[in-house]
Amino acid sequence: MSAQPSYVSTRGRSGAVGFVEALLSGVARDGGLYVPARWPTLSPEALTADGPAATAEAVLRPFIGDSLPEGALARATRRLTDGFDDPAATPLVEVAPGLFVLELFHGPTAAFKDYAMQMVAVLAEAALEASGERLRLVTATSGDTGAAAVRAFGGLERVELVVLHPLGRVSPVQRLQMTTTGAANVKNLAVRGDFDDCQRLVKALLADPRTAGGGRLSSVNSINWARLAGQIPYYVGAARALGAQAARATYVVPTGNFGDAFAGWAARRMGLPMGGIVAPTNRNDALVRALQTGVYARAQAAPTASVSMDVQAPSNFERLLFEASGRDADLTRGLFEDFASDGRMVLPEDLLAALRREVRAVSVSEAETAAEIARTHAETGRVICPHTAVALHAARRLDRSAGPVVALSTAHAAKFPESVEAALGFAPERPRQLEGLEGRAEVFETVDPTLDAVLAALA
Ligand SMILES: *Cc1c(COP(=O)(O)O)cnc(C)c1O
Repeated sequence: MSAQPSYVSTRGRSGAVGFVEALLSGVARDGGLYVPARWPTLSPEALTADGPAATAEAVLRPFIGDSLPEGALARATRRLTDGFDDPAATPLVEVAPGLFVLELFHGPTAAFKDYAMQMVAVLAEAALEASGERLRLVTATSGDTGAAAVRAFGGLERVELVVLHPLGRVSPVQRLQMTTTGAANVKNLAVRGDFDDCQRLVKALLADPRTAGGGRLSSVNSINWARLAGQIPYYVGAARALGAQAARATYVVPTGNFGDAFAGWAARRMGLPMGGIVAPTNRNDALVRALQTGVYARAQAAPTASVSMDVQAPSNFERLLFEASGRDADLTRGLFEDFASDGRMVLPEDLLAALRREVRAVSVSEAETAAEIARTHAETGRVICPHTAVALHAARRLDRSAGPVVALSTAHAAKFPESVEAALGFAPERPRQLEGLEGRAEVFETVDPTLDAVLAALA
């Protein structure tokens, strides 16, 4: 492995960059997403290191090389032990014979996004200190990304964080987590629109020179390579916990932007033994339809109980498509330009077949989600969030005689008390991280879903 790993764009029209550039710039100039120029192989150390911080360090080191000051990565991974309320950070729990739940909600905002975000904040700060620069981060959120980002980046010296959430479409707990921290370097904007509007605005902001405000400009959505890479280690941790069964394990990853599922794909690409990946969506099923019909089409996102998955244009589909095409950047660029202009793309036969070999996708209805919350509680006593329920419902449909099935549990139920109470008749208990949110002063501004409105709010 070279000491300076490089990253290329899925659209092939911007030059290769180093880790710091991929971390601090988010999307590539040509509109594509960064992927490693060459996929590293998991080191023997990654498969034997002791504890979550050491495992993450071994998994992530080849992505960073020596492009950050000595000690930055170790400081970043220490957040997994200092900031998580379980010593394993992401414990694996068997809930029925052969059916496992990978608990990813033990971080400071009780959702899986903490895991990578906590580390990325430390890495970004280290990079900015080394270069003397400042960074403005613009991020779209359906709830959890914003909360995790505000928590991870709030109070940093060299970073200003702008978070766009769809007005009225995030749960009250999620909104309070973003708007009550009092961090002076955070700006919350409630957009009159849906999550895809927020995501579109972030893309437009990132492409507009007026946004940067004199410093650098980036995003911490899972379009950011570092965010995505930061999610790979818990797959390695899960495989190690499964031991000899790991090679046949299927991971069921509740999917919105396909970032978490793509991190699982990346783990396998790096050599992690694995049976397969299933990406269940809620009824916002653009990904499912694309894999079924070969037509990937934009649609209006419908609100569901699993709000953090209300996405109809999953950004990381571009990374999967690029890889499944044999890294054909011209083809990828052409298809995503079609998608940008026409709201749809038609996948060539051979690409569709290749995509189907990489991942399976299924859609789970609102009724099935609620029924799963009730069933899991009745059978195991566990209270799960709607996103986890989508995963567990899809997981139950799989044949467990072929190997263990691991459903990723992406948030604590207490972040979504309304849906959980509707399914169970009582509200979930809040973990320590979510106590004391009410009663604090909220700070946010409401804006129209236009670039000009957002730029005006930032001025
Ligand atoms: C973000 C999120 C998801 C979806 O993850 P993607 O990487 O966008 O596919 C699922 N569940 C929860 C709780 C989330 O916050």
